[in-house]
Amino acid sequence: MSDSAVTAEANKRRTFAVISHPDAGKSTITEALALHASVIGEAGAVHGKGGRKGVVSDWMAMEQQRGISITSAVLQFAYRDCVVNLLDTPGHADFSEDTYRVLTAVDCAVMLLDAAKGLEPQTLKLFEVCRHRRIPVITFINKWDRPGMAALELLDEIESRIGMRPTPVTWPVGVAGDFHGVIDLRAEHMVHFERTPGGSRAAIEEVLTDAVAADRFGEDYSTAVEEVELLAASEQTHDQKLFLDAVTTPVLFGAAVANFGVRQLLDTLIELGPPPSPLDDVDGRPRDLDAPFSGFVFKIQANMNPAHRDQVAFLRVCSGRFERGMVVTHGTTGRPFTTKYAQSMFGSSRDTIDQAFPGDVIGLVNATNLSIGDSLYSDRKVSYPQLPSYAPEHFATIRTDDTSKAKRFRKGIAQLDAEGVVQVLYSDLRGEQSPVLAAVGPMQFEVAAHRLRNEFSVPVTVDNLSFSLARRTDAEGATRLRTAPGVEVFTRARDNAILAAFPNRWRLQTIVSDYAGVMLEPLLADT
Ligand code: GDP
Repeated sequence: MSDSAVTAEANKRRTFAVISHPDAGKSTITEALALHASVIGEAGAVHGKGGRKGVVSDWMAMEQQRGISITSAVLQFAYRDCVVNLLDTPGHADFSEDTYRVLTAVDCAVMLLDAAKGLEPQTLKLFEVCRHRRIPVITFINKWDRPGMAALELLDEIESRIGMRPTPVTWPVGVAGDFHGVIDLRAEHMVHFERTPGGSRAAIEEVLTDAVAADRFGEDYSTAVEEVELLAASEQTHDQKLFLDAVTTPVLFGAAVANFGVRQLLDTLIELGPPPSPLDDVDGRPRDLDAPFSGFVFKIQANMNPAHRDQVAFLRVCSGRFERGMVVTHGTTGRPFTTKYAQSMFGSSRDTIDQAFPGDVIGLVNATNLSIGDSLYSDRKVSYPQLPSYAPEHFATIRTDDTSKAKRFRKGIAQLDAEGVVQVLYSDLRGEQSPVLAAVGPMQFEVAAHRLRNEFSVPVTVDNLSFSLARRTDAEGATRLRTAPGVEVFTRARDNAILAAFPNRWRLQTIVSDYAGVMLEPLLADT
């Protein structure tokens, strides 16, 4: 295949994630999107919530009990002449590093809002990350079939609380709870939606002329038309450059549960969503899409399938053509790495993948020596920048009282560290058998404990510590702070960084003034 063919394949890719506050409808819209497209590889263990056939990988017992998606998988489907890669993100309320790592591997995000709730805490954080990382965001206002806020009010919220200018692509006819359809602002016609029985198939859509829409929907239609005119007058219209710079966000309205507005969302993703672009290496030099194969690992997952004890490294292809079986170089060690077991889909069934292009995600099975952030390449060396490590806000001790399991315990902790589930800290004082876990959200501790108990059969006890922030220090700082009351010094296993943990900002401030000259740098939070 020639280089131009690789570029052509890359240009067909749309790689994105759906992000939202829990319960906004992420699982529902994922199913709805897949329904409108043809799924190339269906995520294996398919357990929809509420008995609905789902497509979101949902393999962990804890996940099923809680009805939340803790882990990420990938769904690939064909739509029009494009290949769409939908990366799943954890759906729980906690700030999770995992979500942010997934966002390093996408070219675009779809932000889902609940029409009745508007912006929720997790939405605000995620929008902020997207804006900071310049990830273009398409906003889908969901649940328009139920009473909710006014459309203009929702736009105001987006603009005033997030600072991204909303530019509607579709506009609802009928208030939330009385949804007739949308005005497609680009085609300049109304699309009327009708439910299919049970909502399990694509909605019935009818394009209406202005006269027919006015006749059928009277005041609801004329109000929508007036609002559309208002938007045009206030320049809330789409501008591709501003969208790609994450300054504006195209907005669509719909109801995922009835498949209303989902086709319009897919069309917007294909027409406005960016294809992969050359990624900068550590030195800021972009690697062309048609350069030899390269990619980076953004996620590691162990024991995805109880039937195969294994570890899968998820790699985003950044350049070139990937072919299963090719021998590539592992950037960190410089060693060759065979890709015989590359796979595309995860769950209980797996498809092997034969080739992949920029924008695609591949799963490398039994890649035990790969870590998050590692680069792989063929022919021409490249190192992609390390993925951000977030500043922890929660700390807990973890231990096992079963001394016969000490070795397994250490192995399990190392595994969770490699996967980036939690940050693992050690202190001389506590010793190797008493690591301290640090995370941005406390739910990661539950995930860690659950996995140690279930995958490693190690009984563990987790006790929260009262620290709430950490700063990076050096060897001298570590020595000086060792005796400071309320402060503890740790070494982070991941990168040997020396961290000092504090119960609160007030304590940090008194330390700064009492221990003049001591190094206390904020940790990279990247937000
Ligand atoms: P997630 O936590 O974001 O994955 O949310 P789910 O997809 O599980 O949806 C949460 C709840 O909202 C479920 O009961 C869905 O049936 C419901 N839901 C999702 N989309 C819609 C919608 O468009 N309209 C209504 N009325 N309910 C919806």
